[in-house]
Amino acid sequence: MPEPVTRHILNVSGGKDSSALAIFMRDRVPNMEYVFCDTQKELTETYEYLDKLEAYLGKPIVRLNAGRGFDHWLKMYGGYLPSSRMRWCTRMLKLRPFEQYVGDDPVRSYVGIRADEDRSGYVSTKPNIKALFPFKEEGINKADVFRILEESGVGVPDYYRWRSRSGCYFCFFQQQEEWLGLKENHPDLFELAKSYEKVDPETGERFTWSQGRTLDELTAPARAQEIRRKAAERKKRTTSDRLLQIVADDDELDPSERACLVCDL
Ligand code: SF4
Repeated sequence: MPEPVTRHILNVSGGKDSSALAIFMRDRVPNMEYVFCDTQKELTETYEYLDKLEAYLGKPIVRLNAGRGFDHWLKMYGGYLPSSRMRWCTRMLKLRPFEQYVGDDPVRSYVGIRADEDRSGYVSTKPNIKALFPFKEEGINKADVFRILEESGVGVPDYYRWRSRSGCYFCFFQQQEEWLGLKENHPDLFELAKSYEKVDPETGERFTWSQGRTLDELTAPARAQEIRRKAAERKKRTTSDRLLQIVADDDELDPSERACLVCDL
């Protein structure tokens, strides 16, 4: 029997790093397969950005998860919202569909961790999947990523004006300021995010996206003012460049508080 052909796959998240990697690899690995694990709860900006990236790459970005989005798995998990401690969403909506797509084929999986990052990233335990880190190998850092995106004409996703990560609009890894950004930029999605929050009528236990507070409490005028004041102070401390700053803020976070690599690259 002939040896199975090794597949080359790049999992795009809709974030800046994996998108820059896709651009970087386009001519280096012409037979690359591009995939996107769709939770069906992404921002419209992400879907628009993927279309733009797809046009640049000149081949389709395969959407995985069709028909089995977040709501399906929320039901399967008894209505328990995912959290940083119980992150079933990443497992079921990002990792599993990718591994199912790959099957048992020998695969090189390209991961967009930069040379200036110390995260190790998701490496599948499946023996047929070998992770490669071209940005690390080539010494590509954050400034290089922005340069790659700009020079390609693809640019950065529009949501970077107010949010530092790709992923679900209600992602619990969001910074408080970003919840305000969601309310301002997508009031309809903010209302939908609110509708997932619940209070157990028997125990009084609250299931909220942001620890200890409902989204209404988080974005109440006095609290919102305080969040904005602190965010403005943080920004003054370093650079005046809004785009670089919001990404810099993200990098300052404790790694455990950051979104996983599969959801946000
Ligand atoms: S983006 Fe956030 S909410 Fe969505 S799957 Fe990833 S960790 Fe879960």
